[in-house]
Amino acid sequence: MTKASNHKQSIETRLAQALHFVEPESGAVIPSIQPTATYARDENYEPRKPYWYRRDGSETTAHAEAIIAELENARESLLFSSGMSACNAVIEHLPNGAHVVVPKVMYHGVLQQIQNYENKNRLIVSSYTAGNLDEMKAAIRNQDTQLVWVETPNNPNWEVTDIAASAEIAHAAGAKLMVDCTGTPPCMTRALDLGADFSFHSATKYLNGHSDVTAGVLSVNHTSQSWEEIIMIRKLQGTVLNSFDAWLLIRGMRTLFLRVEKSCKNAMAIARHFENHDHIETLLYPGLPSDPGHEIAKRQTDGQFGGMMSLIVKGTTQNAIDVARYCEVFYPATSLGGVESLIEHRKTVSGEGFPVHPRLLRLSVGIEDADDLIYDLEQALVRAFG
Ligand code: PLP
Repeated sequence: MTKASNHKQSIETRLAQALHFVEPESGAVIPSIQPTATYARDENYEPRKPYWYRRDGSETTAHAEAIIAELENARESLLFSSGMSACNAVIEHLPNGAHVVVPKVMYHGVLQQIQNYENKNRLIVSSYTAGNLDEMKAAIRNQDTQLVWVETPNNPNWEVTDIAASAEIAHAAGAKLMVDCTGTPPCMTRALDLGADFSFHSATKYLNGHSDVTAGVLSVNHTSQSWEEIIMIRKLQGTVLNSFDAWLLIRGMRTLFLRVEKSCKNAMAIARHFENHDHIETLLYPGLPSDPGHEIAKRQTDGQFGGMMSLIVKGTTQNAIDVARYCEVFYPATSLGGVESLIEHRKTVSGEGFPVHPRLLRLSVGIEDADDLIYDLEQALVRAFG
């Protein structure tokens, strides 16, 4: 038997206990919320902590960041008031005229923001088909490209991009790699271990898991001038995550492993059931062996594949909308990564300008009973197709 002193606790244990939190004075195992907007200096007129005003952070937010840093195997993590504000900080820190390489299809909000910067001549943008490393390589300008953006699996097509190979490609050209792994949280994919310079998650999704917080988190395993600039952007724009939401996030993260495991199992059951369905043209899910990203996903997501998938139904756009309308267990709502299952007609939400199939329905599979979810989709398809 290993000596107790040599035993390294698993991240599941650390997460369930919020890093074995004990409040020193009372012994409370649940942290208090630190809501203050300002901090009194000590008797030498020095700040007592690295923050002296709320826009720098707070103890509650720092606790949540420490948990995510351990989960991500990161040196530092930084929480923002939404995923978008974290992504914006990365975009904003790039110098005028920087060349960036991004997927053609990715989360529409980030793509829209990158296009806004391009339209104002703040950035020069080249794009590649998500997952296609040859196209990524061709889009990169050696020693000129500053940032390569990977979103894997990408939203809403769930195409898988090899993170380790992307890191090699980006670094060989002198560029940094930003990886958005929102669809596969750090209990499945740790992008920094695979070579990313910035790992990003919309913590609104799986990390929190209860659809009651918006948050975003960036993590790095080495600090740099870029990182210092991003910290300053968060401070000056006032986009730090507030303490109440950080507290909810800490509570949500305690059950991350359990929630994600159940979502993945449910998603796999749904994918297997609907893979060759009469009313479904294509089912996009990297967990299916027939999916082009399956083998990379297996390596990159700890063999779990995630709880996100999309269905392209046969028939018309109205048939697709009707399936979403007729669901009684799946909520017809946007977002993902919560305990409750959601279905969304993506084109309605992302708008006409965004390249998404008009008959695509995005599913975020929650932790309910798999048979209830399958039955619900079946009855909605039957009703929609009359
Ligand atoms: N990245 C991805 C892949 C997302 O799915 C989302 C939101 O859906 C975001 C970024 C933006 O995150 P937030 O909604 O927390 O601002």
